[in-house]
Amino acid sequence: MTAGDLPGIAAIAAALADRRLRIVDLTLTLDPDFPTIVLPPELGPSAPFRIEEISRYDHRGPAWYWNNISMGEHTGTHFDAPAHWVTGRDLAKGTVDAIDPQNFIAPACVIDGSAQAAVNADFLLEIEDIETWEAANGPIPAGSWVLMRTDWSKRSPELYANLRADGAHTPGPSAEAIRFLVERRGILGFGAETIGTDAGQAHNFLPPYPAHSFLHGAGRYGLQCLTNLDLLPPTGALLIAAPLKIVRGSGSPLRALAIVPSV
Ligand code: MN
Repeated sequence: MTAGDLPGIAAIAAALADRRLRIVDLTLTLDPDFPTIVLPPELGPSAPFRIEEISRYDHRGPAWYWNNISMGEHTGTHFDAPAHWVTGRDLAKGTVDAIDPQNFIAPACVIDGSAQAAVNADFLLEIEDIETWEAANGPIPAGSWVLMRTDWSKRSPELYANLRADGAHTPGPSAEAIRFLVERRGILGFGAETIGTDAGQAHNFLPPYPAHSFLHGAGRYGLQCLTNLDLLPPTGALLIAAPLKIVRGSGSPLRALAIVPSV
């Protein structure tokens, strides 16, 4: 491609300015009340989001407002890097500070499982669902995100985590489906509205947590706690997903944005 063939950035800027291209915010608000993942008590816990006021135009700082914040890397709408999982531990560029930033902007394919998830909290996306989607929308291009819409982000906090005595009951991809996306379609990553890229019961799958295992073992990425996937077309959205540049970080909260054509 020569410079003359490149899409005009000025044209994109103009389309954004007059809203022929729209920005859809795929990010939940970082809030102390938002549920974080719950692990068995013998395992290290992830800290929830905390926010503490430093000053607000008062004696602590008469002309300025700011806060201290803290949280686990995997809090709220967040990005999973390959090093998050043991299968990706030895990969080059496996931490958020080392990922090629070229990978932070990529097209997104949105597969709608909201009808199935509404009646079955343990709904699993299967290869046949992907093939049905491809029959309507064309093959999933290598290097693209696949986002699984479930409308889970519209649930109340309690129903969002959906914890029962045997763990979380939330939808996700089957082991076969995520392996198919990674190995046969060469996706850049997989995004979900739920707390994990894996289904809530994925500790029982073979392998356990197959989305984490296959994605990160292949150097691919995850996005969790996405919202507004119902506002995206099945194809044609461009996803901007750049994690914070944390030294040797395994992931981070981020502002996930999609650029979509207005219809
Ligand atoms: Mn995570």
